[in-house]
Amino acid sequence: MKKALITGVTGQDGSYLARLLLDMGYDVTGTIRANSQAKMTRLRKLGVADAVRLVDVDLSEINSINRAIRGTAFDEVYNLAAQSFVGSSWDQPIYVADVNGLGVVRLLDALRTYSPQTRFYQASTSEMFGRARAVPQNEETPFHPRSPYGAAKVYGHYITVNYRESFGLHASSGILFNHESPVRSAEMVTRKITLGLARFAHGDHVPVELGNLDARRDWGFAGDYVEGMWRMLQQDVAEDYVLATGITTPIRDFVGFAAEALGLDLAWSGTAEAEHAVDRRSGKVAVKVNPRFYRPAEVDLLLGDATKARTRLGWQPKVTARELAEMMATSDYDDGRA
Ligand code: NDP
Ligand code: GDP
Repeated sequence: MKKALITGVTGQDGSYLARLLLDMGYDVTGTIRANSQAKMTRLRKLGVADAVRLVDVDLSEINSINRAIRGTAFDEVYNLAAQSFVGSSWDQPIYVADVNGLGVVRLLDALRTYSPQTRFYQASTSEMFGRARAVPQNEETPFHPRSPYGAAKVYGHYITVNYRESFGLHASSGILFNHESPVRSAEMVTRKITLGLARFAHGDHVPVELGNLDARRDWGFAGDYVEGMWRMLQQDVAEDYVLATGITTPIRDFVGFAAEALGLDLAWSGTAEAEHAVDRRSGKVAVKVNPRFYRPAEVDLLLGDATKARTRLGWQPKVTARELAEMMATSDYDDGRA
């Protein structure tokens, strides 16, 4: 039985990956921060809360990392823990650098010292492309991050490559474009939309307030993406891979997909800060722009080219943005009824 450690197991990807590995017969340990015992909701929703062994690890605390790595000979370590919300990374840039950047080298160095045979996955991100030098982006596209989050992740990426090249660790960095699910964090735009519209459809009639509706993302389903992570660690030689759908959707269209799934009939009007959508059935404003949610800097068009993952890993995303919006909106609507 293979043994895996997942940092950030309480997060969206951590929960889906835990379920995938458990289904494949792995013995799964997950890290949890001492103060986050309450955050088992996602693992519970996916039905695996009782099957994962938990260890206390904070990526900003080296002793906790060393203890976890020294304690068990893991076959695979997936580093999914991070402060993952780009929007708040401008408010806590030093902490984000510590966890998302230095946290990675703390973990790699513990592996080098105590368990050099362990295979390692680093959760890198399309946010590293930022002011993108090319469209679409692949493994060769230069980085130009546009947020403290993206900048810290660039360090995490390069230190992973560096430990592979310097010490021969089997370490891979997955450059993943946005991926969502019914357990996506509520501050991310997709879940904010599906939660807000589900409440609206239940009759609360409070408009969902959003920032830049013209932003676009290459959105896939988290369940598909964690399978790509696993495939990376099954290769004889560790390398880096982009995972993406290759299709971008504007925020406005994602709103439309979710609204349709909930039986709402939106009519858009106004421009810029006055743009809003009225639900024709209730006559109420369902969505409006609030400049509070604009960002100090936006990334350019992020569109991924996952040819390498498709050809080398046999990986393929299966869920479209419309299907994703339907899945998330329906789940939030059903939870709201419970
Ligand atoms: P989540 O925000 O859902 O999960 C993040 C996890 O990290 C949580 O379990 C959280 O624990 C944990 N964590 C946060 N800070 C620390 C810390 N200091 N020490 C230990 N654990 C910590 O993120 P996702 O599941 O969506 O993403 C997983 C990874 O993939 C992240 O690294 C993210 O940056 C990256 N990524 C995600 C993409 C996406 O679209 N989802 C795209 C590209 C990359 P707690 O419950 O205690 O808060
Ligand atoms: P990100 O790609 O990791 O930053 O994922 P998010 O879901 O947080 O944001 C995706 C895009 O949606 C960004 O370009 C945001 O500017 C845009 N956006 C528009 N309105 C909102 C909002 O209300 N909340 C968030 N989180 N993003 C928004």
